[in-house]
Amino acid sequence: MSVTSLPRPIYSTVAILLMIWMVDLAIAQDVDVEKDSRYCALAWMQNSAEYRLLTEQTYRAALLQLQVGLQDPHWSADEVQLAVGGFEHKQPAIILDCDETVLDNSAYNARRVSAGEEYTTESWNDWCQEAKATAVPGSLDFVNAAKSLGVKIFFITNRRDVVKDATIKNLKELGFPASQGNVLTKNPEQGRGDDKVSRRAMVAKNHRIVLLIGDSMSDLCSGMDSGNLEERNQVASEKRAMLGSRWIMLPNPVYGGWQRALPSGEKALKLSR
Ligand SMILES: [Mg+2]
Repeated sequence: MSVTSLPRPIYSTVAILLMIWMVDLAIAQDVDVEKDSRYCALAWMQNSAEYRLLTEQTYRAALLQLQVGLQDPHWSADEVQLAVGGFEHKQPAIILDCDETVLDNSAYNARRVSAGEEYTTESWNDWCQEAKATAVPGSLDFVNAAKSLGVKIFFITNRRDVVKDATIKNLKELGFPASQGNVLTKNPEQGRGDDKVSRRAMVAKNHRIVLLIGDSMSDLCSGMDSGNLEERNQVASEKRAMLGSRWIMLPNPVYGGWQRALPSGEKALKLSR
């Protein structure tokens, strides 16, 4: 039986589905991934030895700094805790961000590039529910070493509560010590906002925060939400003494607050200095 001999409603449905499929196929074939602004950064993350060596190097340096910080009871990586004081006898802890700090989500972004799509909250949450992120090289060895030194591990992430269980599952399957108690997700309605300050305060209540580790300045201190590039760079200059010491920064060339602060087009390129 040919398609045209089907009853009219069924024939119409088949025709519409066929047209949708052909349009999808045409769009997919039109995607030139190399023209996407994320392509080079993602290809570097996923393929270069340099990215892997850089993250491993960063985590080895972090372990050295952790050992220094553990010896000094007056050492804290949290600016608020330092200002308030009274933390010297608390249990040492470290706080790590999740995405692009211990969890490598480059596969999610690669999928979006391949489909010619931008980030959306819905697609991101779907990816989080898959719990398929891999470990950033060097991160697991570092966390295990920190644990063996008696340090409490906390993850403060701007993933939302709705994907908390999946995030814990992902972290645990990779070998990280993750539970409901030490993975602090975002929920602005309940006082756990973007800037992570309130969640750092929750950890600081009973712990001395020895290191803060992340791929964004906002993982390390407040005041980094500015959409103004000069203000961001000014804060970074002022805080330089903390970086590489009590604050450990991972590379993320694909996305972040820096990108939202960029001027458009060629204005983001400095053609002379
Ligand atoms: Mg991150």
